[in-house]
Amino acid sequence: MKQPGSVTLCEVGLRDGLQNEKTVIPTEGKIAMVRKLLDAGFRCIEVGSFTHPKAVPQMADTDEVFRALGDVADAELRALVPNLRGVTRAIGCGCKKVKLNVSASRQHNLKNLNMTPEESVAGFASCVEASREAGIGISGSISMPFASPWEGVTPIETVDAIIEAYLAVGIAEISLSDASGMATPIQVSRLCTHVRQKYPQASWWLHFHNTRGMAMANLIAAMDAGMTRFDTSFGGLGGCPFVPGAAGNLSTEDVVHLCQGSGVETGIDLLKVMELSRQLQTLLGHPMESYVLRAGRSEDLIAAHA
Ligand code: ZN
Repeated sequence: MKQPGSVTLCEVGLRDGLQNEKTVIPTEGKIAMVRKLLDAGFRCIEVGSFTHPKAVPQMADTDEVFRALGDVADAELRALVPNLRGVTRAIGCGCKKVKLNVSASRQHNLKNLNMTPEESVAGFASCVEASREAGIGISGSISMPFASPWEGVTPIETVDAIIEAYLAVGIAEISLSDASGMATPIQVSRLCTHVRQKYPQASWWLHFHNTRGMAMANLIAAMDAGMTRFDTSFGGLGGCPFVPGAAGNLSTEDVVHLCQGSGVETGIDLLKVMELSRQLQTLLGHPMESYVLRAGRSEDLIAAHA
């Protein structure tokens, strides 16, 4: 089994997690959380999204959060954007990195973004142009590259076509997002191997939801296939309002714990993330979906029994 010497984790709980919570965290609280994540060692944080405030009210203050944070040295604070309007908002508040999204599932794209995948793809070029002019970074993500509840297993040609559309407009940093939590390790292994071989010019992120308990196995399969960048969410928060039965992301604590136990560098201070998740658990008023948060670190248990 192959594993990398180090991985890069992007904390997405502030966006993917908080957008699914009934409790809205005040702007000041979000700013404090970003600072704590930076202190815990994160160099990539998905701070929010520039979506319509009526569609996702939890993300309505993303502009304010970015303004308050200002320039952060040595860290990439990114935001999800659905369209050119989102890119314009990002530029206006000092956000330096945006991430576009399109779903490989037609039905998911219609539900999530209210347009066809072709319409989404057609909008990429203007988003890239605006980002380039403003000197900010831009990346892309593909939801449902493995399978969707509506269309079943995603044909590889569909994924290739979207990757090629991103590459055609100059986006070479691409995230494969199992928003439905339907991927299996063998699918992950095959797709990761395929895209790395076919598109060596691209760099990849993997984003797994643990809807059916397969997210950790999928991450391990992706590492085995040479992937080194993963989105994770504190306390395993997350979901998608447009996916039936959607559950949270792979928990940051569990992934950092796995990596530490396997000799894979993350640069993340696990205890600091656990502390943050516990505070958030109190604020949100429900238990977190993180095994390590519930059971504690293996090393603490060993020390307690020594
Ligand atoms: Zn997600």
